[in-house]
Amino acid sequence: MEQIRVKDIKLKLPIFLPDATRAVVKSLDSIDIKNIDIEGVVVNTLHLADRPGLELLGKVGGIKKFMNFDGLVVSDSGGWQIFSLIHRSKNPGKITDDGVVFYAGTNRKKIFSPEESVRTQFSIGSDVIICLDDFTPPDALEVQIREGVERTVLWARKGKNEYSRLIQEQGYTQENRPLLFSVIQGGWDKELRRYCAEKLVEIGFDGYGYGGYAIDDNNNLDLEFSDFTAKLIPDNAYKFALGTGKPWELASLRKSGWDIFDCTLPTRDARHQRMYIFKYDPAGANLCDRDNFGFIDIGRTVYKDDMSPVDPYCDCLTCKNYTKAYLHHLFKTTDTTALRLATIHNLRHYMVIIENIRCI
Ligand SMILES: [Zn+2]
Repeated sequence: MEQIRVKDIKLKLPIFLPDATRAVVKSLDSIDIKNIDIEGVVVNTLHLADRPGLELLGKVGGIKKFMNFDGLVVSDSGGWQIFSLIHRSKNPGKITDDGVVFYAGTNRKKIFSPEESVRTQFSIGSDVIICLDDFTPPDALEVQIREGVERTVLWARKGKNEYSRLIQEQGYTQENRPLLFSVIQGGWDKELRRYCAEKLVEIGFDGYGYGGYAIDDNNNLDLEFSDFTAKLIPDNAYKFALGTGKPWELASLRKSGWDIFDCTLPTRDARHQRMYIFKYDPAGANLCDRDNFGFIDIGRTVYKDDMSPVDPYCDCLTCKNYTKAYLHHLFKTTDTTALRLATIHNLRHYMVIIENIRCI
């Protein structure tokens, strides 16, 4: 797809969405992110339902008004949070066809259903709603993957039904409705991936996500498998490569047809003093080639008197105005400005890649 249209938003694809778990891209405000041409973010459904809470978000007119951000807001299904909770907990909860049963606090049994996931995302006021899916761990046996796929399809159907009910009840039109995406599971099994995609396409969604880990032993995305999965999605639907990717993966993923990327890496790396660089001018470089990309650890002593910018190819506020020596100093003195300047730079690095691969 070349463009995403939802409500009054029209954006060129592909698009990169940084992580704004709690309605903020850590250390930046909404003006900062607009200034680096970030056009959308991903927020976390359960965190927001907890704080500031759905009642407050409803009162202030939704997440976008609350954040003063008029770009694209995608909410996750909330499933990942609960699966993590279950895996960490001594009282592990369970996954049923009705939803995820878990224990909050002292044995307070709760169930998070596919319907509730959709309802919560409606209340948040996001532009793209994602159906709850049954996440398949990378070491799952075939029987578990199959069960996960069947449940993902069942939950997607329940999510779609709830979505259709809410669209009607709340009087949305085709023009102002949020979009609904589902997630393709199936682990490493190509036939199960194909089966999952076919069943989801039968139900019908605006877009489809690439679920589950498909990374190799070196923690890199398996690009052949990503390509295979992209081809399972109809041309007239959005393709969301969930949780991807590294700077050198974006161009290859786009070539496979993926439209939307979201990744916590650039902001997290920035907070850990890892700043991305282009080794060559990105305008003329082959952005599928990993050799074009690098990073520096700005905390290293070698940078303490380096008066050059972090990346001479970068046009961000940080690189235009400050030196490596100053960034190094800010990190060493643990000033929060370091986090802001480093985050601005790493996100701008991603946006330069995105802008360059829009013509692929
Ligand atoms: Zn920069």
